[in-house]
Amino acid sequence: MIKSIRGTRDLLPPDTDLWNRVEAKVRDVFARYNFREIRTPVFEDTSLFARGVGEDTDIVTKEMFTWEDKGRAASEKSQSVTLRPEATAGIVRAYIEHGLDKRGALQKLYLIGPMFRRERPQKGRYRQFYQINAEIIGPPSAGSESPARDAEVLEMVATMLDEIGLRAWTLQLNSVGCAADRARYNQALREALKPVVHLMCADCQRRAETNPLRVLDCKVPEDQPIIEKLPRISAYLDDACRENFAQVRAMLDAVGIPYTINERMVRGLDYYTRTTFEFTHGDLGAQSAVLGGGRYDGLSESLDGPKAPGIGFAIGEDRLILALHAEGVKADESLDAYIAPLGAGMNPHALKLARELRRAGVRCDLGDETFRLKKSFEAAEKAGARYIVIVGENEAKSGEFTVKNLSEGTQVSVFRGKLAQHLQHAQ
Ligand code: AMP
Repeated sequence: MIKSIRGTRDLLPPDTDLWNRVEAKVRDVFARYNFREIRTPVFEDTSLFARGVGEDTDIVTKEMFTWEDKGRAASEKSQSVTLRPEATAGIVRAYIEHGLDKRGALQKLYLIGPMFRRERPQKGRYRQFYQINAEIIGPPSAGSESPARDAEVLEMVATMLDEIGLRAWTLQLNSVGCAADRARYNQALREALKPVVHLMCADCQRRAETNPLRVLDCKVPEDQPIIEKLPRISAYLDDACRENFAQVRAMLDAVGIPYTINERMVRGLDYYTRTTFEFTHGDLGAQSAVLGGGRYDGLSESLDGPKAPGIGFAIGEDRLILALHAEGVKADESLDAYIAPLGAGMNPHALKLARELRRAGVRCDLGDETFRLKKSFEAAEKAGARYIVIVGENEAKSGEFTVKNLSEGTQVSVFRGKLAQHLQHAQ
């Protein structure tokens, strides 16, 4: 038997009902916050991620699915391409390529789709997983640098999670400052790491040289006491970044969104500046981050684009669904009715009735005239229908149908014209 690839999985009903409900809800919230959808390719030029995400990040050094696309004609050059491990770099590439900065206004974009990382698969961590991404990006003249955008994004995420029905989330907040702050902080980390780095894991030893900030991402338990004693980023923020962060916090306070400051949260991607955040959920175990995001003021320029500060986030949809399951949330996508033709020649009548009902918005399933009444009832129950509607010769002639409520066992006669309403609303 051929099986799905390790780290990938099939999403099946009824689980997909919950996925669809989440996606419908986030689209609804996005519309209310004036975000529009963008769809970018699932594979891109490898250098986009190497430059955008950062050469020394875990994603780029070990997790990308990359291959050499040879090109079909002799004249076509071969090119290194990569399945997208995240969405922001592709969205910023599209922003630059299509000159979206020339539209003047801020671009508020969202993207829902699969991402790919060659990680060690475990619960909540897959090699193909799904993200719900959103970005606000634009020229500074349109207000893209304003802390009001950070607060708007954070407030939107909180509303989204609330409306989806997730309860036990916590917002962890930090500021990683601007490029100059980070350079000074990196230098301070480098100094502080010098006497202790030989005691740390191999990854940290490498990072201490190349990109000391990444040491803070380390999950190796033995390294934690050392990391806890390292200098804190808050001491290295310049006045503007400090003031910016204070304003973001004041706006969150004003709308009553609780958060905790987590100075170790520098996030796994190099493009972040100033505000960074994660929403975590206690029931997810080791993979507790439901979503993460932050500001990326220099990303467009690092990809040869115009100055286009931005802020965004990525919800890990797989983990969001796991968190909803942990809270006992289920999608209620029950079937209204099962239409049961009774006797030879009744299939056309049943199809006609089902067509009317379905067009009127009733969710129904349709049986077959070869089924006996008992088998129709069993099929209706298996399908999870609330009602069964019998379509026999008498019913077809009289236009009055026997409707049985399957959970209560009660039975009534309903005229054709009233049937749709009865099946959708009567309990
Ligand atoms: P990142 O792009 O790394 O900031 O991740 C954003 C969110 O995507 C995380 O908070 C997770 O919820 C989710 N995520 C990241 N990697 C994976 C993965 N391998 N499997 C499932 N979800 C993931």
